Amino acid sequence: MNTSASNAENFADASSDASSGTALGAEAKPLHTPRKLKLATVSLAGCFGCHMSLLDIDERLLALLELVEFDRSPLTDIKTIGRCDIGLIEGGLCNAENVEVLRDFRAHCKVLVAVGACAINGGLPAQRNQLDVGQMMRDVYCRQEGGSPGNQIPNDPELPLPLNNVHPIHEVVHVDYFLPGCPPSGDAIWAFLTDLLAGRTPHLGHGLIHYD
Ligand code: SF4
Repeated sequence: MNTSASNAENFADASSDASSGTALGAEAKPLHTPRKLKLATVSLAGCFGCHMSLLDIDERLLALLELVEFDRSPLTDIKTIGRCDIGLIEGGLCNAENVEVLRDFRAHCKVLVAVGACAINGGLPAQRNQLDVGQMMRDVYCRQEGGSPGNQIPNDPELPLPLNNVHPIHEVVHVDYFLPGCPPSGDAIWAFLTDLLAGRTPHLGHGLIHYD
């Protein structure tokens, strides 16, 4: 796992800002509203299993929401990303839109995390890398019974063009951390986020990253 002390220190600074309100008396309000860190998530070429695992932190979601505010995410249905502290990326890159969204996340997030096997190495979708994408599309759309009307490969200009291969995200942008698993468990995601949000370099022990 990539470890970046400077990123961890950034969050330590934000945490101390958040707790530095000046007590002026029982009636007074803090001069500074504690700043919650902004967290964005997205699913590229993934199955949403990693997002399901994020929800698997269960009641700890409430503790997470004390520390962070969700920005763009399938959980909020916000479609565009603003300036964020942390971006969690599920899934690899299988089409042009995935690449565009990933670059947008990189440009807006201080820390970018590849969550799960698909983001880290392409995962299951990368099994199609053995095949010719054009031939595969013809096989799926033109040669199967019950195929699309007219048996044509969909060519609406709004559809993103598929890439010849499925790529892991680090081949296109810099990634700060890699959180392995398919999916990483809720406990692993929680341990990772609590370390990061507390300004510590995330460290997952063997118990959270063994899969047998
Ligand atoms: Fe789904 Fe596994 Fe890929 Fe996560 S890593 S998106 S759970 S296939």
